[in-house]
Amino acid sequence: MQILFCASEIYPYAKSGGLADVGHSLVKALGKHAEIQSVMPLYGFMPKEEFEKIDIAFSVNLGGVFYDVTLYEKLHDGIKTYFVDAPLLSATEEMYGDAKGDYANNDIRFALFCAAVVELAQIIHADIIHANDWHSALVPLLVRRAKLKIKTLFSIHNLAYHGIFERDSLARVGLEESYFHMDALEFYGRVNFLKAGIVYSDALTTVSPTYAKEIQTKEFGCGLEGLLQLYKTKLTGILNGIDETVFNPQNDAALLSCYSSDTLAKKYENKKALQRELGLSGLKKPLFVMISRLVHQKGFDLLIESLDAFLSEDVNFVLLANGDEEYKKMLLLYTKKYKNFRFLCNGYDEALSHRIYASGDFLLMPSLYEPCGLSQMIAARYGTIPIVNKVGGLKDSVHESGRKCAQGIVMREASKKALLGAVKRAVTLYGDSAKKEDMISLNMNCDFSFAKSALLYHKLYKRLLS
Ligand code: ADP
Repeated sequence: MQILFCASEIYPYAKSGGLADVGHSLVKALGKHAEIQSVMPLYGFMPKEEFEKIDIAFSVNLGGVFYDVTLYEKLHDGIKTYFVDAPLLSATEEMYGDAKGDYANNDIRFALFCAAVVELAQIIHADIIHANDWHSALVPLLVRRAKLKIKTLFSIHNLAYHGIFERDSLARVGLEESYFHMDALEFYGRVNFLKAGIVYSDALTTVSPTYAKEIQTKEFGCGLEGLLQLYKTKLTGILNGIDETVFNPQNDAALLSCYSSDTLAKKYENKKALQRELGLSGLKKPLFVMISRLVHQKGFDLLIESLDAFLSEDVNFVLLANGDEEYKKMLLLYTKKYKNFRFLCNGYDEALSHRIYASGDFLLMPSLYEPCGLSQMIAARYGTIPIVNKVGGLKDSVHESGRKCAQGIVMREASKKALLGAVKRAVTLYGDSAKKEDMISLNMNCDFSFAKSALLYHKLYKRLLS
């Protein structure tokens, strides 16, 4: 069984969120069951000189325009990744857009990537292409249109991102007008790339069982709930996992002091160091942390609305987040008003994020919706108790009662009242050392690896080929 996994970002090469982590850890876990290789674009900011140019080159025809493609490869952590090198993909500084917004030619950039993936799949004799999110959503369509013998699995990591373009984009990416109808790519008078993945794939997955149900409802369906109901027999929800070697407090090079559930005093050394570095006083106070893209989805309106009451508690709060400028401005105002709040917003910082996970007592994740979420699992692994809203993968992976993994504090709903109630419960729990340590120790020993989920994906691959 030969699988080609394609995504627009894969850790450690390029990462803006959880998709990149999944692209690494799922593929690594699947490597134990199948022959699997991955492919992603070669962006301009990536160190091309560290990759090996291979002897495969071709050109891709999009609407009568030919684009030259060369391929590079690299082996990392036992996984071979191919990189699609084309001037359109590498010309930009970022993956998807800059301060002015998304790149206007993202339709051509990612259609080009999809066409190159399909070409590569044929060259390496892939049996299945596993495509992810809208950037690779044209893959199932192109495979179906060319009547190739390759099966396609399409995974939705976040239904909110559709890849919407004007109608004339169809011609630019070389697709016939016949695709412009409701049952194909048309979406309220425009073109929706994500629909191609949903409609033309042989199997469809999303990243948690609860999200698989939620996206078939009006509240979470982002206008695609009807289409997802139509294809629900091919839709499965498989919970993501994390790479337990990347996220391992016992030997994490980013930490001042490594620790396990048996040496929790050493976790405290990290909290001391971080608070000293950030000038936060009160080591006995609970340290709340949050590490997130700075976007509406993650509950920032709710958080900002609750900040006065939250920061008036006897707590410290460290937020590492990057993204929306408006939120940034608002949050910076609070750093002036409250001495117990630090907002770190200077870009993406993997090592700093590990230090914060290791230092926190509680991780806040009041997401409005959450397909799966990885932060809550990473936090649990670092002995930082997650506080989550009861949606999507957060509902499937964090539990306030019983002994299921992980243990945490679960908000009933996305409201200021529920968030502040959760904070109060956290503060009470913080005062109960025995209960808190029992919870931490259970969480740190949970199995958050991709092993179980990889088996489910493998079963699905086998079903596709049978
Ligand atoms: P999403 O994929 O929606 O962004 P997830 O919780 O699934 O959310 O994954 C987010 C990942 O990105 C986690 O590994 C988190 O630690 C990381 N992350 C988010 N923002 C930053 C940042 N500014 N610096 C470093 N890591 C970050």
